[in-house]
Amino acid sequence: MASLLEIPNDTTPFPALRVPPPHTEFTIGWICVLKDEFRAAVSILDEKYDTAGLVRAQGDRNHYVLGRVGMHNLMINLPPADTYGTGHAQTISINMRSAAPSDKHDIRLGDVVLGTKVVPYAHGRETDHGFEQTGITRTTPRELLELITFMDERLWWQKVSLSESIEQIRERTDRGQTAFLRPTRDRFYKASYIHQGSVCDCLQPESQQRVNLYPRKDREVHPVQVHRGTIGSDNHVMKNALRRDYIAQKNNILCFEMEATGVMDVTPCLPIRGISDYSDGHKNDDWHPYAALAAAVCARELLLSVSPQIIAQFPVTIAGNTLDRYILGAVSNPSAFAGSEVERLRHNRDSLMERHALLEELMVAKLRKMHNIHPDDMEDARKELQDLKDLQNTLKIHLQDLDRIMRQHDDLLLSQDPAVREEYRNLKSQVQKDAEAMENLSEVAQKSLQTTCRLLIQLGTDTGNLH
Ligand SMILES: [Zn+2]
Repeated sequence: MASLLEIPNDTTPFPALRVPPPHTEFTIGWICVLKDEFRAAVSILDEKYDTAGLVRAQGDRNHYVLGRVGMHNLMINLPPADTYGTGHAQTISINMRSAAPSDKHDIRLGDVVLGTKVVPYAHGRETDHGFEQTGITRTTPRELLELITFMDERLWWQKVSLSESIEQIRERTDRGQTAFLRPTRDRFYKASYIHQGSVCDCLQPESQQRVNLYPRKDREVHPVQVHRGTIGSDNHVMKNALRRDYIAQKNNILCFEMEATGVMDVTPCLPIRGISDYSDGHKNDDWHPYAALAAAVCARELLLSVSPQIIAQFPVTIAGNTLDRYILGAVSNPSAFAGSEVERLRHNRDSLMERHALLEELMVAKLRKMHNIHPDDMEDARKELQDLKDLQNTLKIHLQDLDRIMRQHDDLLLSQDPAVREEYRNLKSQVQKDAEAMENLSEVAQKSLQTTCRLLIQLGTDTGNLH
């Protein structure tokens, strides 16, 4: 992984890295789009694991860094060098974006927005009565939102402010001290003051246009604040203050970005956004590194506020051997790639079914064992089988998601290219068969679980939760 050389860290070489724990202990997937975000993500790790022996799923061209924050093991993807095009823009997740401040929300550069909802504001159609939004609003799962409460509590009890945590992380590395320095210039212009090209006030060392700046109170004690609310996510860069205000007001949007919708289509997630500009014509890149670090540190605080057991209880938990599938799914979101949809869809299907094949192997072995099991071991075996079945259920849901996404691509059946038509038709029937195979396995497991429960009741054993 040559690209790992780009990771900023102490000038001293890394000490020997530990071999990562088993795959099943990685419960957090962290997806970065830009290099600044990746560097910020790596800088918040307490430990980095040796990834030399990491085996990637077939067809997966991404690189990953495995690491630990507190008691959580996580997997961070490395954005391909300098490919910031739309193809990759469909990925996620903890990164920096454009704010939409308003009278209600005093959002500033370097602040963090936690997305409770994601609105694809530009999806829709022009009608006689104006623009009609048709995109599906996605809501962050309640379980993930609860993490925020844990974090609030932690920060409150420990009297820690996010800005202090950011400073601590920044000072931890030689590179970070300069790379992630907080910029001093934060000017929020009135929407009426449009960017003036090379002579604009936003480029001057001292503002001459104070009259055109929104008056704001100083924020000396806690310069970084965390906001929660709706994120506007679509295929557009928001760079127009009037449109920003119009859309933000209509949808109660706190910030704009381009990734969350793509990822939420594939997997539930909690978008965490560091604010790096005001979605207007004065936008520049100065705040990117700091905003990325602010979002990463906020994610770190969230993780430190909950135990791995709590994460493991979530229905949206990313089980170890499905983690790369989630990331793959996000990276390969079919809608992001024009021209090679079939290939992408096939890739998603293959990767999903590869996971399922592994799971099937485990389930079948377990089912065989259930036939002549000693009564003392029965309850344990039942629980293990139930866990596998739950995991399989998650994969079933993902296959249904894929099927749904594929239906949006059914125009491929009418493609000019006969090879594309043929390939897509085959893929569709394949996914149909996959779904049936999954269902069959699920039914067999269900029967075995029911039989075992009956036996356990006959034996007078307390079975706990019967499914
Ligand atoms: Zn300007």
